[in-house]
Amino acid sequence: MTPSRTWLRNPKAIFTANALDATGGLVIEGERIIEVVGAGGTPQSPYEVTFEARDHVILPGLINTHHHFYQTLTRAWAPVVSVPLFPWLTNLYPVWARLTPRDLELATTVALAELLLSGCTTVADHHYLFPGGMEESIDIEVSVVKKLGMRAMLTRGSMTLGEADGGLPPQQVVQDADVILADSERLIAQYHERGEGAKVQIGLAPCSPFSVTTDIMRSSAALAEQHDVRLHTHLAETIDEEEFCKEMFDLRTVDYLESVGWLTDRTWLGHGIHFNDEEVARIGAAGVGVAHCPTSNMRLASGICRAVELEEAGAAVGLGVDGSASNDASNMILEARQALYLQRLRYGAERVTPERALGWATTGSARALGRDDIGQIAPGKQADLALFTTDDLRFSGSHDPLSALLLCGADKADRVMVAGDWRVIDGAIEGLDLATLIAEHSAAARRLVAG
Ligand SMILES: [Zn+2]
Repeated sequence: MTPSRTWLRNPKAIFTANALDATGGLVIEGERIIEVVGAGGTPQSPYEVTFEARDHVILPGLINTHHHFYQTLTRAWAPVVSVPLFPWLTNLYPVWARLTPRDLELATTVALAELLLSGCTTVADHHYLFPGGMEESIDIEVSVVKKLGMRAMLTRGSMTLGEADGGLPPQQVVQDADVILADSERLIAQYHERGEGAKVQIGLAPCSPFSVTTDIMRSSAALAEQHDVRLHTHLAETIDEEEFCKEMFDLRTVDYLESVGWLTDRTWLGHGIHFNDEEVARIGAAGVGVAHCPTSNMRLASGICRAVELEEAGAAVGLGVDGSASNDASNMILEARQALYLQRLRYGAERVTPERALGWATTGSARALGRDDIGQIAPGKQADLALFTTDDLRFSGSHDPLSALLLCGADKADRVMVAGDWRVIDGAIEGLDLATLIAEHSAAARRLVAG
């Protein structure tokens, strides 16, 4: 943590994600932002340290709302490079069923390091694989998050419908409802932090309508209500899923969501693509969150999320890189670029500005995770910041520095701060040996697919 009050002075450009003028920079004290400074101004608060930000474009720390960390071990795996969601899943499940605790530790470290270096300060993960020996998966993720000094919303996922019950996953990765619910309660009691500045939070996350029973959807909602934690699942990702839902429950996906008590602002959804007009209005009116995952949606050719209409209807639209078997990168600033371009195809260039895409990656994502203390630069908010330089070859000749981050394809932050603490300096993570990590993680990935 910064020992004293610091003025990050006169940035090259700054995006506050609100209407405040912070042209003159911002002042931080401890974990929080205490002041923003207008054009040509100096801070009202006394400050002891000045950080010259003239070469930096400052953003609120980016927030990733959907991921599966373990999938960094199956990036670009040949058998699923060019297939849609369902065969992608059925090919990968048997590989993922061999996951070990050390594999998950390495995979989580890689995903978090990659995110952090891309300017991301808060991450959500959806972990739903608990084969024998992997009972402490979320505990492993918590320890890596703490080691890297990030914020996280870690969700206790679940699958109960194996192949024998008409589901997609193999039997060895599904669990009984009582085991899932007892472990969910344990994790909430052990790790869930509440209120402003929370570093680790726990959510409940049945994998998808096609991998759990109606009972587990209902009891997860009840447990989330009882402990005041958030709910997450995949929904409306593909037309295959919509048809599966109709066949299995005789309902469309949003009707099913409502029937199990999930159509509330406690819920955020992975993908949320295939909604009709009436469903967009209902999702918006309920204030449900949607994690838009543009790269994954293009990779699996799932469809284009109706992000602008959902946002205008009242939904909390955030961005997610999704798991690394379907992206296959964990880079939040590049994901904002993908969102900008994919959404322009649907809504046109004028409605989808760089600021709108950056808004999804910051305030929109914060809201999807149920938080108002992160995702923007304003007095009282947490000091989570991403600072980019624009002196690389790719920016040469660019004019507007903020637009240039997305249009020229910034992929690496120069500095990243989480809760007032610099976690990335000069493009490197404090205290992490990347070469060793890559060697160990790559070896684990080869072993996993070899079986
Ligand atoms: Zn996903």
